[in-house]
Parts: sequence; C-alpha cells; structure tokens
Amino acid sequence: MAEIKSLKSTGVQDECGILGIAAKCEQEIAHDVYFGLFALQHRGQESAGIALSKGDSSVAYYKNMGLVSEVFDQEKLSIFPYAKTAVGHVRYANKGSNNVVNAQPVVFFGRYGRVALSFSGALINAQQLKDEMLKNGHIFQSSVDSEVLASYVNYCANDDAVSGAINAAKKLVGAFAFVYMVGETLIAVRDGYGIKPLIMGERDGDIIFASESCALEALSAKIVRDVLPGEVVVVDKDRNISSYFFTKGCKKPCIFEHVYTARADSKMDGVSVYESRRQAGRKLAELYNVEADIVAGVPDSALAAAKGYSEVSGLPFTDALIKNRYIGRTFIQPSQAMRENSVKIKLSAFAHNIKGKRLVLIDDSIVRGTTSKKIITLLRQAGATEVHMMIASPMVINPCHFGVDMDTKEQLIANGRTEEEIRQIIGADSLHYLPVESLCEACGGKEYCTGCFDGDYSFDISGYYPEN
Ligand code: 5GP
Ligand code: MG
Repeated sequence: MAEIKSLKSTGVQDECGILGIAAKCEQEIAHDVYFGLFALQHRGQESAGIALSKGDSSVAYYKNMGLVSEVFDQEKLSIFPYAKTAVGHVRYANKGSNNVVNAQPVVFFGRYGRVALSFSGALINAQQLKDEMLKNGHIFQSSVDSEVLASYVNYCANDDAVSGAINAAKKLVGAFAFVYMVGETLIAVRDGYGIKPLIMGERDGDIIFASESCALEALSAKIVRDVLPGEVVVVDKDRNISSYFFTKGCKKPCIFEHVYTARADSKMDGVSVYESRRQAGRKLAELYNVEADIVAGVPDSALAAAKGYSEVSGLPFTDALIKNRYIGRTFIQPSQAMRENSVKIKLSAFAHNIKGKRLVLIDDSIVRGTTSKKIITLLRQAGATEVHMMIASPMVINPCHFGVDMDTKEQLIANGRTEEEIRQIIGADSLHYLPVESLCEACGGKEYCTGCFDGDYSFDISGYYPEN
C-alpha cells in the first residue's frame, strides 16, 4: 500500500446502473434491457447503452448521451437482432466528464473473443493498474477509466474469460459491480465488501443481474439472491450457473444506497429500501420532539421517512412540495440565473397546505447544503411560519471514495461546522440529524459502510487517502 500513498481519487468514479441478461433462448432481448435500464434510470442520467451478443462471437451495441428513453426509440431497438445474451448500462458521472467516450457498455476484442462490459463503482487503484499494463506494452485509446477495467479483465485472463474476471477482481481496490459478456457467457462480479449492489433474478429460465431489484420487478423476474461480496457468478452458454469467490467476502455495503441512491421499492441484501427510510423517519420522531403542526418530506427520496415521522409523532403527513415528474436528478442548467432558480424548476410549494403552519420538513441528506437553503426559502415564501428541518441520516463530513457524488471534503457543508452553524446557513428554525447508530438500526441493523458520516469505511483507506 505504501507506494501509492499520495494517491488522489483519480480512479473510476461512477455511481451507475448495470444490467445483464442470459436468456434461455433467443428473444427480443434489447427490449428487456431497455425496460430494465428504464427502471434503473435514477442511478444515472448521463448516458445509456445496450450491447448484445449475436452468438457468432460478434456484438451489436449502441450507446449515447442522454436518458434511456432519449438514447433508444422503437426504431433503434428494432435494429437489434434476436439474441440470448446482453448487457446494459446507465451512467451517472460525478467528475464532469460528460462525453460519449465514457458511455458504457465498453465493447472490445479480447483474448477470448468479443466482450461487452458494464461497470458501476469506483476503483481507487485504477492508475496503478493502468501503469502496470502500460509497462507491459498495453496501449489505451482514451483516458477513460472504464477502459482500464475492461483492459485489466482481459489482461488477467490467462485460462479463459472467467479467469480474467476472477484474477482481475483480486487486484481491484475499491467498490465495484460489473457484468461482462463474452460470447453467450455472462459473468457478474461484486466487490469483496458488497459496497456496490448487485442482485440476481430469474424469469422462466432467463437469468438476470441488475444493480437493483426494481429492474427485476420491471422485467417480471423473481429475486433469486444478491450476488455475494467477493463473488463471481458465471452463467455459461447452456445456462448452467457456477459461483467462485475471489476473496473471503465481508459484507459492508454502502448505507447511502438506503439513504438516497436506490429506488424505494428495491430490496438490497434482503433489506427493503422503503422500510429503511420509513424506520429512519420513525427514529427521528422518537429522538426529537418539536412543536409543529404538520410534517412533510422532500420528494421523492424523503417521503418514506416523513411518513414514518408522522406515524410516531402524530403530526399529519402533508404534501408541502411537488416535484416536476419530468425532471431527473440532474438536469440541464443553461445559465447562472437558471441555476439559481433550479429548485423552483424542480420543486414547487403547496401554499394551500402550508400557509400559517409550523412545518417539520424531512430530507434524506444534506450534502452541499444548497438545496436545503433554497427549499426552506421557498416554503417560507409560500407561507410556512416555521420550518424545522430533520435529516434522515447523519452529517456528511467525509468524502466518498467509492463513487457517491461527494468526493472532496470542501464541498460538504457539515465539514468543520456545527449543527447550529449549518442551521443558520440553511435558514431553518431548528435542525436535527439522525445519529449513525439509529440509521444502521433503521437499515436492518447490519454492518454498513458509513464512511461519509463517521469515517468508518468498508475497509481501511488511510494508506490511499492519508489526508482523511
Ligand atoms: P445538497 O445538500 O447537496 O444541496 O442537496 C441534498 C439533496 O441532494 C438531498 O435532497 C438528496 O436527496 C440529494 N442528494 C444526495 N446525494 C446525492 C448525490 O449523490 N447526487 C445527487 N444528484 N443528489 C444527491
Ligand atoms: Mg432530495
């Protein structure tokens, strides 16, 4: 570890949604991938792509910038042939690199044929892996990190494609989940701590892997199980399933999936995301008793917590804000004036419901603090007499090195500030956060990576990020 002490987070840095299908027989598989990706759209709105194996060891693929529904239309989907094996990807980039060259799946000619790979996560040692390959004569077409991963999987393939995934996974440091198609074989890999989610489903003999169970639901597939930390699952061309472990897994998944990233109807490692959020809201109400008239959640990710708060506190659950349903988590902000106005474009207040009322407002998290400040102003303008802010997670004080969009300390409003200082900046009448133990209990009481809240990451990162 010592030789990479000064490493900054230059690695692969994406949250994302991935999907892989190994169907029993040839079908309109591109349509299935489309609907699966559509259900994972909340995990990434920057680009979308589909690749499918044509069986004759060639791959048909298309990827571009935009939402799934912008990238693919009926005409584009109909060009894809019937096939048995496919992978797909939606990308969320937190590093500004919004270029089609970053879109996935990555498709390449490898040692064992044509390959397509969809990746989600953040590799801390991407630069080291790249240097190792360069030293051995490798070339790279781009500066894109997903090319590093794809090349490394190929580089490590000494016996067959599966050995590439297993050998590479042993050397990857960070959070990752990827699906990888070689001919009609589909390989799914999850990091040794299960930081990134990956779940396996089944539908009439078709095997499906996805970042979240909501994609399985969309395809009418049943959940089989989560891919385990440190596991490589291989579905061969005859659809036999085998499992390998590249490390002794030790489950410590990202708790922020429950807080914000995942869709509320997903289940991760057996825990319902909706239930985690609802329980987090109940715990807020048990901990903090505030004199108020109504409670509301910031749509969409805090609505379940607001329901939980209402159940325990007895305050009526009220719609204080409505979100424009045609807006994604990120959207184009063409000018500074528009940026200033962005909360108003995304959310509007129900003046009728909140005028003259003392409001408890629940949000899932405060990261930079800009959103909360604007929302509170909006609610006061709409007539709320008091706004008491409750956050269904602890103060975010550390960067995430595993792909969640908070990668420098300086961006974080809670870095070096007290709760009272934050309250003043966002302009709330009071502010309360959920303690980390309560959040873990709300999420089923299991072990989680809570590094962004308390520095307890899935594994010791001090060798990589000494400044933490
Ligand atoms: P902020 O405090 O950064 O202004 O915004 C917090 C809001 O952003 C919360 O309402 C939360 O739902 C949302 N949020 C939390 N994490 C992320 C993230 O990684 N990416 C995006 N786009 N939004 C996030
Ligand atoms: Mg939000």
